[in-house]
Amino acid sequence: MLKKDIKEILVNKEEVEAKTKELGKKINEDYLGKTPLVVGVLKGAVPFMADLVRAIDTQLEMDFMDVSSYGEALVSSGEVKIIKDLDTNVAGRDVLLVEDIVDSGQTLKYLVELFKYRQANSVKIVTLLDKPEGRVVDIEPDYSGFKIPNEFVVGCGLDYKENYRHLPFVGVLKPEIYEA
Ligand code: 5GP
Ligand code: MG
Ligand code: MG
Repeated sequence: MLKKDIKEILVNKEEVEAKTKELGKKINEDYLGKTPLVVGVLKGAVPFMADLVRAIDTQLEMDFMDVSSYGEALVSSGEVKIIKDLDTNVAGRDVLLVEDIVDSGQTLKYLVELFKYRQANSVKIVTLLDKPEGRVVDIEPDYSGFKIPNEFVVGCGLDYKENYRHLPFVGVLKPEIYEA
């Protein structure tokens, strides 16, 4: 039972499912007649993106990018290193970037600027979670599921040491898990 490692559930499974469908419906309306390129940021976006695209009824294509922040892991320098690039040419495309969470916003700012430089027709952001208090750059998601306080959470794609990504809810880990 992984749930025993969780101190508090911030967003439960039913809320995640309902919100994902709601976001899919909005995206569907905004992209009617278009074929967006839906780009997931590995690995955290995978569970949310899998459910989100199944709530979208327009034509769409999926692709993935893997990026990491340079240097020390705790305080991101804002420099982002591409681990895996897209397979798709984004020139002229309507790109919808999918993230698990927007915290400092540095990863997304880098990606938005990269896709604009590569001449995407439009770039929008959808995120399941948003920590507005963490923001250090001026970037806001176009579609956002839940605003959460500045706490370290796991589940719905978010990991602690690569575990807990598959939890169907968003929760705060018990302190003894970090201390173990
Ligand atoms: P930023 O917006 O700071 O550039 O980066 C966001 C990334 O930091 C997310 O995609 C995620 O990988 C990580 N992150 C931010 N907040 C949390 C959190 O509360 N829990 C986990 N597991 N990862 C987080
Ligand atoms: Mg992420
Ligand atoms: Mg992580």
